[in-house]
Amino acid sequence: MTSLSNATADYRARDAAHHIHPFSDMKSLNAEGSRVIVRGEGAWIWDSDGNRILDGMSGLWCVNIGHGRPEIAAAIQRQMAEISYYNTFFKTTHPPAVALAEALARLSPPQFNHVFFCGSGSEANDTVIRMVRHYWATLGKPKKTVLIARKNAYHGSTMGGGSLGGMAPIHSQGGLPIPGIHHIAQPYWFGEGGEATPEEFGIQAARELETAIEELGEENIAAFVAEPIQGAGGVIIPPASYWPEIARILRGREILLVADEVITGFGRTGNWFGSQTFGIEADLMPIAKGLSSGYLPIGGVMVSDKVADVLIGPGGEFHHGFTYSAHPLTAAAALENLRIIEEEKLVDRVRDDIGPYLQKLWLALGDHPLVGEARMTGLMGALELVPNKPSRAHAFPDTGKVGTIARDFSFRNGLVMRAVRDSLILAPPLTLTHEEADILAATAKKTLDDTL
Ligand code: PLP
Repeated sequence: MTSLSNATADYRARDAAHHIHPFSDMKSLNAEGSRVIVRGEGAWIWDSDGNRILDGMSGLWCVNIGHGRPEIAAAIQRQMAEISYYNTFFKTTHPPAVALAEALARLSPPQFNHVFFCGSGSEANDTVIRMVRHYWATLGKPKKTVLIARKNAYHGSTMGGGSLGGMAPIHSQGGLPIPGIHHIAQPYWFGEGGEATPEEFGIQAARELETAIEELGEENIAAFVAEPIQGAGGVIIPPASYWPEIARILRGREILLVADEVITGFGRTGNWFGSQTFGIEADLMPIAKGLSSGYLPIGGVMVSDKVADVLIGPGGEFHHGFTYSAHPLTAAAALENLRIIEEEKLVDRVRDDIGPYLQKLWLALGDHPLVGEARMTGLMGALELVPNKPSRAHAFPDTGKVGTIARDFSFRNGLVMRAVRDSLILAPPLTLTHEEADILAATAKKTLDDTL
Protein backbone atom coordinates (compact mmCIF):
# COMPACT_ATOMS: atom_id res chain seq x y z
CA MET A 1 0.00 0.00 0.00
CA THR A 2 1.24 3.49 -0.84
CA SER A 3 1.98 5.47 2.31
CA LEU A 4 0.29 8.83 2.69
CA SER A 5 3.47 10.81 2.18
CA ASN A 6 4.19 8.89 -0.99
CA ALA A 7 0.75 9.92 -2.13
CA THR A 8 1.61 13.55 -1.31
CA ALA A 9 4.88 13.36 -3.23
CA ASP A 10 3.04 11.87 -6.19
CA TYR A 11 0.35 14.59 -6.19
CA ARG A 12 3.00 17.27 -5.89
CA ALA A 13 5.07 15.98 -8.78
CA ARG A 14 2.05 15.67 -11.06
CA ASP A 15 0.71 19.05 -9.98
CA ALA A 16 4.05 20.70 -10.67
CA ALA A 17 4.21 19.05 -14.08
CA HIS A 18 0.90 20.36 -15.41
CA HIS A 19 -0.92 22.83 -13.20
CA ILE A 20 -0.54 26.61 -13.27
CA HIS A 21 -2.11 27.93 -10.05
CA PRO A 22 -3.89 31.28 -9.65
CA PHE A 23 -2.06 34.00 -7.71
CA SER A 24 1.02 31.80 -7.22
CA ASP A 25 4.69 32.14 -8.00
CA MET A 26 4.94 28.78 -9.73
CA LYS A 27 8.68 28.47 -9.42
CA SER A 28 8.70 28.68 -5.64
CA LEU A 29 5.47 26.72 -5.35
CA ASN A 30 6.93 23.85 -7.35
CA ALA A 31 10.11 23.96 -5.28
CA GLU A 32 8.14 23.69 -2.03
CA GLY A 33 5.29 21.56 -3.34
CA SER A 34 1.57 22.24 -3.06
CA ARG A 35 -0.41 21.44 0.02
CA VAL A 36 -2.78 18.71 -1.03
CA ILE A 37 -6.21 18.98 0.57
CA VAL A 38 -8.24 15.83 0.25
CA ARG A 39 -11.28 16.13 2.48
CA GLY A 40 -13.42 18.58 4.44
CA GLU A 41 -16.03 18.35 7.15
CA GLY A 42 -17.53 21.27 9.05
CA ALA A 43 -14.79 23.75 9.89
CA TRP A 44 -12.03 21.19 9.24
CA ILE A 45 -9.99 20.08 6.25
CA TRP A 46 -7.56 17.17 5.93
CA ASP A 47 -4.38 17.09 3.88
CA SER A 48 -2.94 14.11 2.03
CA ASP A 49 -0.69 13.27 5.00
CA GLY A 50 -3.74 12.87 7.23
CA ASN A 51 -3.29 16.14 9.13
CA ARG A 52 -6.50 17.77 10.34
CA ILE A 53 -6.45 21.55 9.92
CA LEU A 54 -8.98 24.15 11.07
CA ASP A 55 -10.13 26.10 8.02
CA GLY A 56 -9.93 29.63 9.34
CA MET A 57 -10.53 31.05 5.84
CA SER A 58 -13.63 29.05 4.83
CA GLY A 59 -11.69 28.05 1.72
CA LEU A 60 -11.48 31.46 0.07
CA TRP A 61 -14.04 33.25 2.28
CA CYS A 62 -16.81 31.17 0.84
CA VAL A 63 -17.66 27.96 2.72
CA ASN A 64 -20.07 29.75 5.05
CA ILE A 65 -22.03 26.61 6.01
CA GLY A 66 -18.90 24.49 6.52
CA HIS A 67 -17.50 21.67 4.43
CA GLY A 68 -19.03 18.37 3.44
CA ARG A 69 -22.74 19.03 3.86
CA PRO A 70 -24.63 16.04 2.45
CA GLU A 71 -27.79 18.16 1.98
CA ILE A 72 -26.05 20.15 -0.76
CA ALA A 73 -24.82 17.01 -2.48
CA ALA A 74 -28.38 15.63 -2.37
CA ALA A 75 -29.85 18.87 -3.78
CA ILE A 76 -27.38 18.83 -6.67
CA GLN A 77 -28.12 15.19 -7.33
CA ARG A 78 -31.89 15.80 -7.31
CA GLN A 79 -31.49 18.58 -9.83
CA MET A 80 -29.19 16.43 -11.97
CA ALA A 81 -31.88 13.83 -12.20
CA GLU A 82 -34.23 16.49 -13.64
CA ILE A 83 -31.94 18.42 -15.97
CA SER A 84 -28.29 19.24 -15.31
CA TYR A 85 -27.93 22.07 -17.80
CA TYR A 86 -30.11 24.46 -19.58
CA ASN A 87 -29.56 28.14 -20.27
CA THR A 88 -31.49 31.23 -19.26
CA PHE A 89 -30.91 33.09 -22.54
CA PHE A 90 -33.53 33.62 -25.23
CA LYS A 91 -36.68 33.61 -23.14
CA THR A 92 -36.04 30.42 -21.16
CA THR A 93 -35.85 29.73 -17.46
CA HIS A 94 -35.96 26.74 -15.10
CA PRO A 95 -37.26 26.02 -11.59
CA PRO A 96 -33.98 26.50 -9.62
CA ALA A 97 -33.36 29.87 -11.30
CA VAL A 98 -36.89 31.03 -10.50
CA ALA A 99 -36.71 29.87 -6.89
CA LEU A 100 -33.23 31.28 -6.28
CA ALA A 101 -34.10 34.71 -7.70
CA GLU A 102 -37.21 34.73 -5.52
CA ALA A 103 -35.25 33.74 -2.39
CA LEU A 104 -32.61 36.41 -3.01
CA ALA A 105 -35.27 39.09 -3.45
CA ARG A 106 -36.77 38.03 -0.12
CA LEU A 107 -33.48 37.88 1.81
CA SER A 108 -31.77 41.02 0.53
CA PRO A 109 -32.52 44.63 1.56
CA PRO A 110 -35.97 45.83 0.41
CA GLN A 111 -34.82 47.83 -2.62
CA PHE A 112 -33.50 44.65 -4.27
CA ASN A 113 -36.12 42.63 -6.09
CA HIS A 114 -34.15 41.43 -9.12
CA VAL A 115 -30.94 39.54 -9.75
CA PHE A 116 -28.72 38.97 -12.78
CA PHE A 117 -26.86 35.65 -12.51
CA CYS A 118 -23.28 34.86 -13.51
CA GLY A 119 -20.58 32.43 -12.49
CA SER A 120 -18.28 34.31 -10.11
CA GLY A 121 -17.54 37.53 -8.28
CA SER A 122 -15.31 38.73 -11.11
CA GLU A 123 -18.09 38.21 -13.63
CA ALA A 124 -20.46 40.01 -11.27
CA ASN A 125 -18.21 43.06 -11.24
CA ASP A 126 -17.70 42.96 -15.00
CA THR A 127 -21.48 42.91 -15.23
CA VAL A 128 -21.66 45.94 -12.93
CA ILE A 129 -19.35 47.96 -15.19
CA ARG A 130 -21.52 47.30 -18.24
CA MET A 131 -24.79 47.62 -16.35
CA VAL A 132 -24.15 51.02 -14.80
CA ARG A 133 -22.96 52.49 -18.10
CA HIS A 134 -25.97 51.01 -19.89
CA TYR A 135 -28.24 52.43 -17.18
CA TRP A 136 -27.02 55.98 -17.68
CA ALA A 137 -26.94 55.69 -21.48
CA THR A 138 -30.57 54.56 -21.38
CA LEU A 139 -31.41 57.63 -19.32
CA GLY A 140 -29.86 59.79 -22.04
CA LYS A 141 -26.60 60.41 -20.18
CA PRO A 142 -24.05 58.38 -22.17
CA LYS A 143 -21.16 60.49 -20.87
CA LYS A 144 -21.64 59.03 -17.39
CA THR A 145 -19.14 56.18 -17.75
CA VAL A 146 -16.48 56.60 -15.04
CA LEU A 147 -16.49 54.23 -12.07
CA ILE A 148 -14.82 55.39 -8.90
CA ALA A 149 -13.36 52.59 -6.78
CA ARG A 150 -10.67 52.39 -4.13
CA LYS A 151 -6.99 51.66 -3.89
CA ASN A 152 -6.26 48.20 -2.48
CA ALA A 153 -9.82 47.06 -3.20
CA TYR A 154 -10.35 43.61 -4.67
CA HIS A 155 -13.15 43.08 -7.15
CA GLY A 156 -11.81 40.08 -9.08
CA SER A 157 -9.11 39.45 -11.64
CA THR A 158 -10.83 39.67 -15.03
CA MET A 159 -10.17 42.76 -17.16
CA GLY A 160 -13.13 44.52 -15.57
CA GLY A 161 -12.93 43.21 -12.01
CA GLY A 162 -9.15 43.58 -11.89
CA SER A 163 -9.40 47.15 -13.16
CA LEU A 164 -12.07 48.08 -10.67
CA GLY A 165 -9.90 46.63 -7.94
CA GLY A 166 -7.07 48.84 -6.82
CA MET A 167 -4.23 46.36 -6.44
CA ALA A 168 -0.92 47.42 -7.93
CA PRO A 169 0.40 43.88 -8.62
CA ILE A 170 -2.74 43.10 -10.65
CA HIS A 171 -2.49 46.38 -12.53
CA SER A 172 1.15 45.65 -13.33
CA GLN A 173 0.28 42.78 -15.66
CA GLY A 174 -1.87 42.35 -18.74
CA GLY A 175 -2.78 45.93 -19.54
CA LEU A 176 -4.99 46.79 -16.58
CA PRO A 177 -6.70 48.98 -15.58
CA ILE A 178 -9.06 49.52 -18.50
CA PRO A 179 -9.95 53.19 -19.11
CA GLY A 180 -12.70 54.88 -17.15
CA ILE A 181 -11.83 53.65 -13.67
CA HIS A 182 -10.62 56.08 -11.01
CA HIS A 183 -9.23 55.02 -7.62
CA ILE A 184 -9.45 56.95 -4.36
CA ALA A 185 -8.12 56.29 -0.84
CA GLN A 186 -9.15 53.31 1.25
CA PRO A 187 -10.34 53.82 4.85
CA TYR A 188 -7.33 51.95 6.27
CA TRP A 189 -6.77 53.78 9.51
CA PHE A 190 -4.18 51.40 10.97
CA GLY A 191 -1.87 51.63 7.97
CA GLU A 192 -2.58 55.10 6.62
CA GLY A 193 -4.34 57.11 9.30
CA GLY A 194 -1.26 58.94 10.56
CA GLU A 195 -2.02 61.18 13.52
CA ALA A 196 -5.77 61.35 12.81
CA THR A 197 -8.23 59.54 15.06
CA PRO A 198 -10.10 56.70 13.33
CA GLU A 199 -13.22 58.88 13.12
CA GLU A 200 -11.34 61.81 11.61
CA PHE A 201 -9.61 59.51 9.17
CA GLY A 202 -12.89 57.87 8.12
CA ILE A 203 -14.24 61.29 7.13
CA GLN A 204 -10.98 62.23 5.42
CA ALA A 205 -10.91 59.03 3.32
CA ALA A 206 -14.58 59.40 2.38
CA ARG A 207 -14.04 63.01 1.32
CA GLU A 208 -11.67 61.80 -1.40
CA LEU A 209 -14.86 60.71 -3.12
CA GLU A 210 -16.18 64.27 -3.00
CA THR A 211 -12.91 65.63 -4.36
CA ALA A 212 -12.89 63.06 -7.16
CA ILE A 213 -16.46 63.94 -8.11
CA GLU A 214 -15.56 67.62 -8.24
CA GLU A 215 -12.45 66.94 -10.34
CA LEU A 216 -13.96 64.43 -12.75
CA GLY A 217 -17.39 66.07 -12.96
CA GLU A 218 -20.58 64.43 -11.78
CA GLU A 219 -21.80 64.42 -15.39
CA ASN A 220 -19.06 61.88 -16.21
CA ILE A 221 -19.47 59.52 -13.24
CA ALA A 222 -21.57 56.38 -13.36
CA ALA A 223 -20.95 54.77 -9.97
CA PHE A 224 -18.92 54.43 -6.81
CA VAL A 225 -17.96 50.82 -6.07
CA ALA A 226 -16.71 49.55 -2.71
CA GLU A 227 -16.65 46.53 -0.45
CA PRO A 228 -18.43 47.22 2.88
CA ILE A 229 -15.29 45.73 4.49
CA GLN A 230 -12.29 45.24 2.21
CA GLY A 231 -11.54 41.53 2.38
CA ALA A 232 -8.54 40.58 0.27
CA GLY A 233 -7.05 44.01 0.95
CA GLY A 234 -6.57 42.88 4.56
CA VAL A 235 -9.95 42.92 6.34
CA ILE A 236 -10.05 46.69 6.45
CA ILE A 237 -12.98 47.58 8.64
CA PRO A 238 -13.81 51.22 7.99
CA PRO A 239 -14.09 53.65 10.91
CA ALA A 240 -17.73 54.22 11.93
CA SER A 241 -17.65 57.68 10.33
CA TYR A 242 -16.79 56.39 6.83
CA TRP A 243 -20.01 55.01 5.36
CA PRO A 244 -22.27 57.77 6.73
CA GLU A 245 -19.95 60.34 5.12
CA ILE A 246 -20.06 58.44 1.80
CA ALA A 247 -23.87 58.51 2.06
CA ARG A 248 -23.82 62.26 2.71
CA ILE A 249 -21.59 62.84 -0.32
CA LEU A 250 -23.77 60.76 -2.64
CA ARG A 251 -27.08 62.14 -1.36
CA GLY A 252 -28.79 64.11 -4.11
CA ARG A 253 -26.08 63.25 -6.62
CA GLU A 254 -26.67 61.21 -9.75
CA ILE A 255 -24.15 58.51 -8.96
CA LEU A 256 -24.99 54.86 -8.37
CA LEU A 257 -23.65 53.13 -5.28
CA VAL A 258 -22.37 49.58 -5.70
CA ALA A 259 -21.65 47.53 -2.56
CA ASP A 260 -19.50 44.55 -3.51
CA GLU A 261 -20.90 41.90 -1.16
CA VAL A 262 -18.96 38.97 -2.60
CA ILE A 263 -17.32 38.35 0.79
CA THR A 264 -19.54 40.33 3.14
CA GLY A 265 -22.80 38.76 1.95
CA PHE A 266 -24.64 35.79 3.41
CA GLY A 267 -24.01 36.27 7.10
CA ARG A 268 -20.30 37.01 7.24
CA THR A 269 -20.70 40.29 9.15
CA GLY A 270 -23.66 39.25 11.32
CA ASN A 271 -26.37 40.39 8.92
CA TRP A 272 -27.43 38.91 5.61
CA PHE A 273 -25.38 41.62 3.90
CA GLY A 274 -22.52 43.87 4.99
CA SER A 275 -24.60 46.80 3.72
CA GLN A 276 -26.99 46.21 6.61
CA THR A 277 -24.14 46.12 9.13
CA PHE A 278 -22.91 49.52 7.93
CA GLY A 279 -26.23 51.14 6.94
CA ILE A 280 -25.29 51.31 3.25
CA GLU A 281 -28.17 51.84 0.80
CA ALA A 282 -26.74 50.43 -2.39
CA ASP A 283 -28.19 50.44 -5.91
CA LEU A 284 -26.37 47.27 -6.96
CA MET A 285 -24.76 44.41 -5.02
CA PRO A 286 -22.38 41.93 -6.65
CA ILE A 287 -22.64 38.57 -4.85
CA ALA A 288 -20.88 35.18 -5.11
CA LYS A 289 -18.91 32.98 -2.65
CA GLY A 290 -21.32 32.52 0.32
CA LEU A 291 -24.24 32.45 -2.14
CA SER A 292 -23.50 28.75 -2.64
CA SER A 293 -20.93 28.43 0.16
CA GLY A 294 -18.57 27.59 -2.68
CA TYR A 295 -20.15 24.18 -3.29
CA LEU A 296 -20.58 25.13 -6.95
CA PRO A 297 -19.49 28.35 -8.67
CA ILE A 298 -22.23 30.95 -8.90
CA GLY A 299 -22.39 34.73 -8.68
CA GLY A 300 -24.84 37.46 -9.41
CA VAL A 301 -25.67 41.13 -9.21
CA MET A 302 -28.59 42.19 -7.03
CA VAL A 303 -30.39 44.97 -8.89
CA SER A 304 -32.41 47.62 -7.05
CA ASP A 305 -35.84 48.70 -8.24
CA LYS A 306 -34.36 52.04 -9.31
CA VAL A 307 -31.97 50.33 -11.74
CA ALA A 308 -34.33 47.51 -12.68
CA ASP A 309 -37.01 50.02 -13.72
CA VAL A 310 -34.60 51.36 -16.33
CA LEU A 311 -33.09 48.05 -17.41
CA ILE A 312 -36.42 46.33 -17.77
CA GLY A 313 -38.24 48.41 -20.33
CA PRO A 314 -36.46 51.44 -21.71
CA GLY A 315 -33.08 49.65 -21.49
CA GLY A 316 -34.12 47.13 -24.13
CA GLU A 317 -32.02 44.03 -24.54
CA PHE A 318 -28.93 43.89 -22.30
CA HIS A 319 -26.35 42.33 -24.61
CA HIS A 320 -24.61 40.51 -21.81
CA GLY A 321 -24.69 37.06 -20.20
CA PHE A 322 -22.85 33.83 -19.62
CA THR A 323 -23.49 30.24 -20.69
CA TYR A 324 -23.58 29.43 -16.98
CA SER A 325 -25.81 32.32 -15.85
CA ALA A 326 -28.13 30.56 -13.36
CA HIS A 327 -26.74 27.13 -14.23
CA PRO A 328 -29.39 24.75 -12.79
CA LEU A 329 -26.97 22.77 -10.60
CA THR A 330 -25.29 25.85 -9.17
CA ALA A 331 -28.68 27.46 -8.57
CA ALA A 332 -29.93 24.31 -6.82
CA ALA A 333 -26.80 24.26 -4.63
CA ALA A 334 -27.23 27.94 -3.79
CA LEU A 335 -30.88 27.48 -2.93
CA GLU A 336 -30.11 24.63 -0.56
CA ASN A 337 -27.29 26.67 0.95
CA LEU A 338 -29.69 29.55 1.65
CA ARG A 339 -32.16 27.10 3.16
CA ILE A 340 -29.45 25.82 5.53
CA ILE A 341 -28.35 29.36 6.50
CA GLU A 342 -31.95 30.22 7.33
CA GLU A 343 -32.86 26.96 9.05
CA GLU A 344 -29.73 26.94 11.23
CA LYS A 345 -30.09 30.68 11.89
CA LEU A 346 -26.44 31.16 10.97
CA VAL A 347 -26.80 34.90 10.47
CA ASP A 348 -28.22 35.37 13.98
CA ARG A 349 -25.51 33.05 15.26
CA VAL A 350 -22.77 35.27 13.87
CA ARG A 351 -24.41 38.40 15.27
CA ASP A 352 -25.35 37.12 18.74
CA ASP A 353 -23.40 33.99 19.55
CA ILE A 354 -20.26 32.73 17.80
CA GLY A 355 -19.41 36.19 16.45
CA PRO A 356 -19.12 37.91 19.87
CA TYR A 357 -17.54 34.75 21.33
CA LEU A 358 -14.72 34.61 18.78
CA GLN A 359 -14.31 38.40 18.71
CA LYS A 360 -13.52 38.41 22.43
CA LEU A 361 -10.81 35.77 22.00
CA TRP A 362 -9.46 37.40 18.84
CA LEU A 363 -9.31 40.93 20.25
CA ALA A 364 -7.39 39.56 23.25
CA LEU A 365 -4.62 38.59 20.81
CA GLY A 366 -4.11 42.34 20.43
CA ASP A 367 -2.14 42.16 23.71
CA HIS A 368 0.52 39.98 22.10
CA PRO A 369 3.84 41.84 21.63
CA LEU A 370 3.78 41.16 17.88
CA VAL A 371 0.26 42.50 17.31
CA GLY A 372 -0.31 46.19 16.60
CA GLU A 373 -4.05 45.81 16.15
CA ALA A 374 -6.58 42.99 16.35
CA ARG A 375 -9.90 43.71 14.65
CA MET A 376 -12.97 41.69 13.77
CA THR A 377 -16.53 42.30 12.59
CA GLY A 378 -18.87 39.32 12.47
CA LEU A 379 -16.53 36.48 11.58
CA MET A 380 -14.05 38.50 9.58
CA GLY A 381 -10.84 39.54 11.30
CA ALA A 382 -7.23 40.65 11.02
CA LEU A 383 -4.14 40.82 13.18
CA GLU A 384 -1.65 43.50 12.18
CA LEU A 385 1.86 42.27 12.92
CA VAL A 386 4.29 45.05 13.78
CA PRO A 387 7.95 45.17 14.80
CA ASN A 388 7.37 47.94 17.28
CA LYS A 389 3.99 47.83 18.95
CA PRO A 390 3.58 51.47 20.02
CA SER A 391 4.39 52.92 16.58
CA ARG A 392 1.62 51.20 14.68
CA ALA A 393 2.42 52.50 11.22
CA HIS A 394 5.98 51.22 11.12
CA ALA A 395 5.83 48.03 9.12
CA PHE A 396 8.62 45.49 8.95
CA PRO A 397 11.30 46.61 6.49
CA ASP A 398 10.87 43.49 4.32
CA THR A 399 7.11 43.91 3.89
CA GLY A 400 5.15 40.71 3.62
CA LYS A 401 7.87 38.40 4.86
CA VAL A 402 6.74 38.20 8.47
CA GLY A 403 3.13 37.75 7.44
CA THR A 404 4.10 34.84 5.20
CA ILE A 405 6.23 33.26 7.90
CA ALA A 406 3.38 33.54 10.41
CA ARG A 407 0.89 32.13 7.91
CA ASP A 408 3.13 29.10 7.33
CA PHE A 409 3.56 28.55 11.09
CA SER A 410 -0.19 28.72 11.44
CA PHE A 411 -0.75 26.06 8.81
CA ARG A 412 1.80 23.79 10.45
CA ASN A 413 0.09 24.41 13.79
CA GLY A 414 -3.19 23.30 12.26
CA LEU A 415 -4.99 26.54 11.38
CA VAL A 416 -5.48 28.13 7.96
CA MET A 417 -5.04 31.87 8.13
CA ARG A 418 -4.10 34.06 5.21
CA ALA A 419 -1.27 36.59 5.04
CA VAL A 420 -1.91 40.02 3.56
CA ARG A 421 1.28 42.07 3.72
CA ASP A 422 2.24 41.64 7.41
CA SER A 423 -1.22 40.90 8.67
CA LEU A 424 -2.92 37.60 9.33
CA ILE A 425 -6.51 37.37 8.30
CA LEU A 426 -9.35 35.13 9.30
CA ALA A 427 -12.85 34.25 8.09
CA PRO A 428 -13.95 30.88 9.49
CA PRO A 429 -17.19 29.08 8.62
CA LEU A 430 -20.31 30.50 10.26
CA THR A 431 -20.93 27.07 11.78
CA LEU A 432 -17.79 27.31 13.95
CA THR A 433 -18.47 25.92 17.44
CA HIS A 434 -17.31 27.50 20.70
CA GLU A 435 -14.86 24.67 21.17
CA GLU A 436 -13.44 25.24 17.68
CA ALA A 437 -13.20 28.96 18.41
CA ASP A 438 -11.13 28.12 21.52
CA ILE A 439 -8.84 25.91 19.43
CA LEU A 440 -8.59 28.63 16.79
CA ALA A 441 -7.58 31.31 19.28
CA ALA A 442 -5.07 29.04 21.04
CA THR A 443 -3.50 28.08 17.70
CA ALA A 444 -3.33 31.70 16.59
CA LYS A 445 -1.61 32.56 19.90
CA LYS A 446 0.91 29.73 19.44
CA THR A 447 1.53 30.94 15.89
CA LEU A 448 2.29 34.46 17.14
CA ASP A 449 4.67 33.01 19.77
CA ASP A 450 6.41 30.90 17.10
CA THR A 451 6.77 33.93 14.82
CA LEU A 452 8.14 36.29 17.48
N1 PLP B 1 -15.24 40.87 -5.11
C1 PLP B 1 -14.73 40.64 -3.90
C2 PLP B 1 -15.03 41.60 -2.79
C3 PLP B 1 -13.92 39.52 -3.67
O1 PLP B 1 -13.38 39.32 -2.46
C4 PLP B 1 -13.69 38.63 -4.74
C5 PLP B 1 -12.87 37.43 -4.52
O2 PLP B 1 -12.19 37.27 -3.52
C6 PLP B 1 -14.23 38.92 -5.99
C7 PLP B 1 -15.02 40.03 -6.13
C8 PLP B 1 -13.98 38.02 -7.14
O3 PLP B 1 -14.68 36.86 -7.02
P1 PLP B 1 -14.27 35.55 -7.86
O4 PLP B 1 -12.95 35.08 -7.35
O5 PLP B 1 -15.40 34.61 -7.61
O6 PLP B 1 -14.20 35.97 -9.29
